[in-house]
Amino acid sequence: MSMDGEARMPVIFFGHGSPMNTLARNQYTEAWRKLGAAVPKPKAILAISAHWFTKGTAVTAMAKPRTIHDFGGFPQALFDIQYPAPGDPALAERVRGLLAPLPVAMDESWGLDHGTWSVLVHAFPEADTPVVQLSMDAGKPAAFHYELGRRLAPLRAEGVLIIGSGNVVHNLTLMQGREDAPAYAWARRFNEQVRAALASGRHQTLVDFEQRGEDARLSVPTPEHYLPLLYVAGLQQEGETIDFAVDGYEAGSLGMLSAAAGMPADWRNATGAH
Ligand code: ZN
Repeated sequence: MSMDGEARMPVIFFGHGSPMNTLARNQYTEAWRKLGAAVPKPKAILAISAHWFTKGTAVTAMAKPRTIHDFGGFPQALFDIQYPAPGDPALAERVRGLLAPLPVAMDESWGLDHGTWSVLVHAFPEADTPVVQLSMDAGKPAAFHYELGRRLAPLRAEGVLIIGSGNVVHNLTLMQGREDAPAYAWARRFNEQVRAALASGRHQTLVDFEQRGEDARLSVPTPEHYLPLLYVAGLQQEGETIDFAVDGYEAGSLGMLSAAAGMPADWRNATGAH
C-alpha cells in the first residue's frame, strides 16, 4: 500500500505490562500482532515509551539504535532478545522541527528500551522498519504531553506510525503474585473511566486524570506509564473512532488496555504480513 500522502497512518497505544510478554503468546501479544499486521507498512515508527522519562525532551538520532535491557531479575532469554531495527536520523530531525521552538536533544546514547521492543517484537517481528524514540520530559505536566502529541500529527500523513507504550493502570507495589489475579476495584474503575473518555473523545478528562482522586493515585502512582496515552489522544483526529484492541489486567494492578485510532476498517480480520 502506498503511503505518499494520501493516507493517514493509525496511531496506537500499547499496554505493555510485564517484559515477559516479549516471550509470551497470549491475548495481549496476539492483539499486538494483529494491529501490526493490519497497519499499512510504515516508513518509520516513532515510539513514546514509559521507560524513557527524562530531564528535557530528546529523540534518538543514531542510525543503529541498540536494544536496551532496562530491567533486572528476568530470565536470560529476555536479555538475549535483540530488536535490530535501524534508526532514522532524518525523522529525528523532522520531529525536532515539528516541536520547535521546544529544545529537543538529538540523543546518541539511548536506543530502544523494552517499552518499545517488547511490543514491536510482536507487532513488527521483521524489525526492518526504522524506529525512533521520543523521550518524555519528567518535569512537565500532563497537558504538555498531550500538546506535544498534537504537534506530531503531521507525521501521520508522512507514513510514520506513532505508538505510545505504557499502561493505563500501573501499580508495581500492589501487584499480586499471580498474573491472573483479579483486578482491584480501583483499577477497574479508573480503567473504565479512561476507556469512556477515550471512546467519547473527552481528552480534557484524560489530561485531568488526577481529579479522579484515590482511584487515580493508586492506578497512576507515578505518571510515566500513563503519559504515553496522552500523546496518542493528542494525535487522534476529529471524528476518528478509537478501537479497543484488547483489555484486561495482569497481577491485579497492571491495566493491559491497548487502543488505536485510524485503523483500517475490518482490521481485526487482517492476516497479511507486510
Ligand atoms: Zn513498563
